[in-house]
Amino acid sequence: MGPLLEQVFSAEEFRHQGHQIIDLLADYLEAAAQPSTDAVMPWMPPGKGEQHWADDFADHAGQPISTLLAKVLEEGIHLHTPRYMGHQISPPAPAAALAGLLNDFMNNGMGVYEMGIPGSVLERQVVKVVARQMGFGENADGVLTSGGSLANLTALLTARSIKAPENIWQVGTGGEQLALLVSEEAHYCVDRAVRIMGWGAAGIIKVPADDQYRMRTELLPSCLAEAKAAGKRVIAVVGSACSTATGSFDDLQAIGQFAQQHNLWFHVDGAHGAACAFSRKYRKLVAGIELADSIAMDFHKMLLTPSVTTALLYRNSQDSYHTFAQKAQYLWEKEGEQEWHNLARRTFECTKTMLSLRAYSLIRTYGIALFDEYVTQVNDCAQAFAALLQKRPGWDLAIHPACNIVCFRYAPQTEDEATNDFLNQQMRKRLVEEGSFYIVQTVLRERIYLRVTLSSPYTQEADLVSLLDRLEVIAKAIPTVV
Ligand SMILES: *Cc1c(COP(=O)(O)O)cnc(C)c1O
Repeated sequence: MGPLLEQVFSAEEFRHQGHQIIDLLADYLEAAAQPSTDAVMPWMPPGKGEQHWADDFADHAGQPISTLLAKVLEEGIHLHTPRYMGHQISPPAPAAALAGLLNDFMNNGMGVYEMGIPGSVLERQVVKVVARQMGFGENADGVLTSGGSLANLTALLTARSIKAPENIWQVGTGGEQLALLVSEEAHYCVDRAVRIMGWGAAGIIKVPADDQYRMRTELLPSCLAEAKAAGKRVIAVVGSACSTATGSFDDLQAIGQFAQQHNLWFHVDGAHGAACAFSRKYRKLVAGIELADSIAMDFHKMLLTPSVTTALLYRNSQDSYHTFAQKAQYLWEKEGEQEWHNLARRTFECTKTMLSLRAYSLIRTYGIALFDEYVTQVNDCAQAFAALLQKRPGWDLAIHPACNIVCFRYAPQTEDEATNDFLNQQMRKRLVEEGSFYIVQTVLRERIYLRVTLSSPYTQEADLVSLLDRLEVIAKAIPTVV
């Protein structure tokens, strides 16, 4: 072994550095639980950031890994603090992060069974746990994959291979114009998936949403009839559980019944909100999800798991084997060769990280009661925030929140919406730059809204009051154009 490799693979060095890093993270966790004014994210503009890290390399190259990780920990965004309320990604449970470390260390490839026996078997366990929670029967199955976007595309490929009339897998997309129905509020990745499949803009039929940003399911029959009249062959309908911007849940019961009546594939994009099925209190949000043919659910958004870890579930296990092939080709299927244990047959990934361990570590250690407790707590927190906003003069709620996403807006100048847009945009910008809280913004029906996803287990009502206090102070300092 050369001298560098000798150093790299030194068990003693690893033990020493590893202990330091665990201590560092434990201190970080301890601090997250304490009241603090430390920045959620020490803001740095991109140009400055580039120089900052170039300087770091010039000054510190060759130093132990713990010095680098301490710096990254300090300067990155801190999801565990109660004042992180930004994008939809949950602070990982420490046990799941430890599982992630082992996963990275072992690097079991998981494409075929032999390349990761525990990970492959546990993937099946995890998928079964989620499928049961969704209300699927014994015949349900699925895979874990890298993110909701990829899971949605994979599910739609399955839909196509089962519902499309021609053998597209062999002959390519040259035949009929295929299409699917989806709410106008759906995540952009559904639109992208349609275009990746070669259906073009005509392949996505956007069903209008109501004032709560839910699909207007009563329009489904006319949308379908119109598409047919235009010569399109509609093969699927996608329900959002929930929509990304406002956290609105489509009526899955109604969509499921419609899909059954018209022999359409019913896919639920539950990347964010299907996790609500784990909450006894909020399960009702996904009523009807058991009617789906396929469901995508991210573990990393509402289930305390490192990203990206996504379950793609099929009500009917056999369907998942059609994703990357056409029905007719599947002679081996009849020969009983549905090899669940060779996972790459059904996923995009060839080499895949041991995604199962991140989720299974929590299920085995704490039980699914942990997911119930967490989802219920963050959703309750959103209810408390909505109540605060309603009481407080000058603030508007976009809609009453269903889950842990809340869109709201400061509108003291009610008659001048453009000024209010400018004000909210500036408020967020200044808040993020000072680092006291982290929130995001969105555009709803052409108006700018502030948006939070409540996800830290430490966030309490007092933090939400401080957020509004701080935003009002910031708003006072903003000169508004007249
Ligand atoms: C976040 C989200 C996605 C994308 O999931 P990734 O895991 O980020 O790829 C898709 N659909 C919805 C509704 C989402 O909220």
